[in-house]
Amino acid sequence: MRLVDAHAHVQADRFAGDLSDVLLAAAAAGVERLLVPGWNLASSRGAVALAHAPAPGAPSIDAAVGIHPHEAAGAGPGREEVAELAADPAVVAIGETGLDYDRAFSPREDQLVNLRWHLALGRRTGKPVILHCRSAPGLRDAQDDLVAELRAAGAGDAAWRERLGGAPPAILHSFSGPVDFAEAALELGLAIGFSGLVFRRGEEPSAQVARIVPPDRLLVETDSPYLSPPGAPKRRNEPSWVAVTARWVAAQRDVEPDALGEALVPAYDAAFRTRTGEQWT
Ligand SMILES: [Zn+2]
Repeated sequence: MRLVDAHAHVQADRFAGDLSDVLLAAAAAGVERLLVPGWNLASSRGAVALAHAPAPGAPSIDAAVGIHPHEAAGAGPGREEVAELAADPAVVAIGETGLDYDRAFSPREDQLVNLRWHLALGRRTGKPVILHCRSAPGLRDAQDDLVAELRAAGAGDAAWRERLGGAPPAILHSFSGPVDFAEAALELGLAIGFSGLVFRRGEEPSAQVARIVPPDRLLVETDSPYLSPPGAPKRRNEPSWVAVTARWVAAQRDVEPDALGEALVPAYDAAFRTRTGEQWT
């Protein structure tokens, strides 16, 4: 099955000892594209470095640069360098950023300021913004705020669409939330990525969402080293395990895994406007 992993933090320390083996295993599992997002300045630099120095036999690697909502407090100074990194051709997206009202490691106001800054950067650079969005269990306040922020930023308006040449203005990564949240995001032109989160209690609406996303805006991801799907070691998820989530998505859509796989690579290339089959240098 052809696969992508549209969100894997393989620049994290937990991969320092065996990254080349992890990347070879991903390629052996069918992963052709790997997107490595930063969560702060240092990890954004790490993502860019990896995208410039892929291991032989590894999937094609792209970078995203940004500051996670967990790190939004005090992120101001680092954002300037993130903006500089965003100009690098190996950087195909801005993020990850977004809103996290579940763990709330940063005050909401700081998260909102951080999110607005990243949306503006995405609009300016013409690169899609990778969005993390989690509410506390049973709530949807982060999802509702995120849609309001996207609308306020002009996601989906004609000028932004033109800037993007038809690519999505943002990606809802590791989808979590009610079906109408997904519908609102799709209406704004966003793409949606599914991770091992879909297997967790409370995430049941994801099954319906997996059926309604258009194939050219549908992505799968691991969020490695987090969110291990069933069968993957809890201590560390890896890109090769994206196959478990991709098969689940295929089952929800009632298509053969191989047919879904044929759509995943073009959807990735369309979302991130990568040059198919070419490696950035
Ligand atoms: Zn992530």
